[in-house]
Amino acid sequence: MATQNYKQETLALHAGYNFDTQRTLSVPIYQNTAYSFESLEQAAARFALQELGNIYTRIGNPTINILGERLAAVEGGAFGVPTASGTAAIFYALANLAQNGDNVVYSNKIYGGTQTLIVHTLKRFGIESKVFDIDNIEESLEKAVDSKTKAILFESLSNPQIAIADVEKITKIAKKHGIATICDNTVATAFLHKPFEFGVDIVVYSLSKYVNGQGSALGGVAIERNGLNSLIVDNPRYPAFNTPDASYHGLVYASLADSLPIFSIRLITEWLRNIGATLSPHNAWIVIQGLETLELRIKKHSQNALEVARFLQSHPKVKEVFYPGLEGNPYNALLKKYFKDSNSSGLLSFEVESYEKAKKVCNALEIFEIVANIGDSKSLVIHPASTTHSQLNQDELDSAGITPCTVRLSIGLESPQDLIADLKQALEK
Ligand SMILES: *Cc1c(COP(=O)(O)O)cnc(C)c1O
Repeated sequence: MATQNYKQETLALHAGYNFDTQRTLSVPIYQNTAYSFESLEQAAARFALQELGNIYTRIGNPTINILGERLAAVEGGAFGVPTASGTAAIFYALANLAQNGDNVVYSNKIYGGTQTLIVHTLKRFGIESKVFDIDNIEESLEKAVDSKTKAILFESLSNPQIAIADVEKITKIAKKHGIATICDNTVATAFLHKPFEFGVDIVVYSLSKYVNGQGSALGGVAIERNGLNSLIVDNPRYPAFNTPDASYHGLVYASLADSLPIFSIRLITEWLRNIGATLSPHNAWIVIQGLETLELRIKKHSQNALEVARFLQSHPKVKEVFYPGLEGNPYNALLKKYFKDSNSSGLLSFEVESYEKAKKVCNALEIFEIVANIGDSKSLVIHPASTTHSQLNQDELDSAGITPCTVRLSIGLESPQDLIADLKQALEK
């Protein structure tokens, strides 16, 4: 179906799927590794990228492709490449832009796993990193970037600090220097915030969170914006796209730019092909089921979280509540500027008076399960300093705004009255 003119809710249900020969209404699962070619000539054309089509599931599969197309449509992007996890999508997006001797610049308030990937794992590949302050963008980002900077990565709504990025400030500086921006939109989702509308180049997701919504499958995606080719082609920052690729018989990706989204094509032909963190078709299908109801769920997560945040704010045992939807939260103005209906997703955190109290509250909760995850339909609680962020040193923790007294909640779809009653009994125990 020609989906350009439809709204996001419609695209989430229809984009990317035109029915296979059986006309199944639900997207079918193509549970296969390989495909038969009609002739050796067709096989050769596909290997040479002269004809796009199925070769092997590591680099393409109909169910996975439908998910990628649907996510790109909902996001308002050009092309989406699903991966086995959010972490794989982030690694591939960065590795697609930077190589040995380069650096990437990242926000101080991001997911702990992403920070570890950038600071430690990329370093082993000779890619350096520099941090900028998401709350002081103009000064810190301008200082951090240099001629070797290949990407600027940040989260639209950060996990777990719940900081909202002033996206336009970031993209303005990036554009001035011709550097690609990568925005992790996992917590906000496209139904609350659309980074491409504010100049972002690449959006990445952990689909394992709100998009899946049930905590039942890992997945990730990297989506490129319309027109990204023009940033990459002939840009001296990105030689991998502008010089012959020995691993692909001398192909120059820029030569494909008239008809193909070259960031995504190279993400498939270099990274999925040679590293292989491919999403399974079955998990792609599970994520598609989640995407179809994401709009309803993310609104409800937001409404529940706002109610819980208001309750916590009024409770004497709670020192501080961080939820952008609260008037008076430092990100409330950015929320109003960048997020649809000022909905702020399901993530909130609060501080109690001590580490001991934080632990006690986590253990006393009954509906909230202690889980190192977010974005499930069920409410979850975690103590970041001892778990998800335990690899960070003190400076990094300070910079990320995490203290031993911080408790993070991922508010689910239960009755908000029940969630509030559970928190009340746990705080007062
Ligand atoms: C969970 C998460 C990731 C990592 O995704 P996985 O699917 O678990 O690999 C990346 N970014 C954010 C913001 C996350 O919450």
